[in-house]
Amino acid sequence: MSALPFLKFAGPVITDEMADAVRDTIISGWLTSGPQVSAFEAALSNYHGGRPTRVFTSATAAMEVAFEVCGISPGDEVITSAMTFFSVGNMIEKVGATTVFVDCDLVTRNLNFDQVEAAITPRTKAIVPTHMSGLPCDMDRLYDIAKKHGLRVIEDAALAIGSSWQGKRIGAFGDIATFSFHPNKNMTTIEGGAAVFADEAEAKRAEVLRFHGITRLADGTRDVSVAGGKFNMSDVSARLGLAQLEKLDTWNVHRQSLAHVYTMLLTPLADELGIVLPSPAHPNEPTGHSWNMFCVLLPFDKPWQSQLTRKQFIDAMHAQGIGIGISYEAMHLTSLFRAKGHRDGEHPNAERIAQQTVTLPLHAAMTEADVVRVVQALISFLAKA
Ligand SMILES: *Cc1c(COP(=O)(O)O)cnc(C)c1O
Repeated sequence: MSALPFLKFAGPVITDEMADAVRDTIISGWLTSGPQVSAFEAALSNYHGGRPTRVFTSATAAMEVAFEVCGISPGDEVITSAMTFFSVGNMIEKVGATTVFVDCDLVTRNLNFDQVEAAITPRTKAIVPTHMSGLPCDMDRLYDIAKKHGLRVIEDAALAIGSSWQGKRIGAFGDIATFSFHPNKNMTTIEGGAAVFADEAEAKRAEVLRFHGITRLADGTRDVSVAGGKFNMSDVSARLGLAQLEKLDTWNVHRQSLAHVYTMLLTPLADELGIVLPSPAHPNEPTGHSWNMFCVLLPFDKPWQSQLTRKQFIDAMHAQGIGIGISYEAMHLTSLFRAKGHRDGEHPNAERIAQQTVTLPLHAAMTEADVVRVVQALISFLAKA
């Protein structure tokens, strides 16, 4: 029915120049990690105030290596949010540590720091906060707690490239931050990720761990000093990343303005329709949100709308040519963590978000008219329900 093009809920912008640059790299004779990776790392480091930076095949890989660099291992506890992407819990478990979940705030969806403090034990080694949707968590509180208890912090900044806290970019200060360049993030390398370190020696260890644990000897042969993985980025991906990074700030400003239109259109209707809107910004940092996603809670559990399911909503929006995402499920209620004893009711906010959240379209190729179209479709669905 609708002649309008399908509106994806997320996706990258790839210009002809970017495609040409990638083509040049593909035919340059050097495909895997090489000069483009070095240049991309230098550019990312520069973007984060000169901090030591290494790129990887994904943010998940970057986080696994960061955990190894920090020596997180069996017997250690790592505190994270029940409301984040699966990769966080997976990597904590993969290095043999124990995941300690705390709940999140219903509106910011970021870690509840009162619960973080209460969860600290003598075995706690690290905190892994996710900057949800690109909204920085309270960095002052985070690093106060970490300092007081001598804990490492590995910030899951997968959604937060270009976000800032009181004028300082996420990744430009603090301990370790990991970023994702998956196509749904604010910039892409197709697949890819990065870790920004506070310490050059740790970045060097990460470099060894991402490539088989290999060190080069003076006689030209190689040695393996540690059982490393294989997480090095290709030059083709890095070349795309270099071109994307140049546009990142412009795109993030555009994302901010689209989020503002959503907020303006939905705020007057939110109470009546039972919608919980995302936090427009952190109260201490009004402009630092990079708006990777615009996630709302819809009243899927209200008695008067008991017929309404999220599946129906997603299907109805799809039929109108509008893509909808779900971010995220509650991690403690996955089969992996249920098998470790976790149960419904442990983290009420995360569980409510998991049931009611939908991700409305938001990406740099969208227009304000697209936002209006989404809001109209959403309102007409809720009005009929
Ligand atoms: C996308 C995402 C990741 C994982 O990123 P990859 O690059 O796909 O490994 C981790 N955490 C959060 C919050 C994410 O959204």
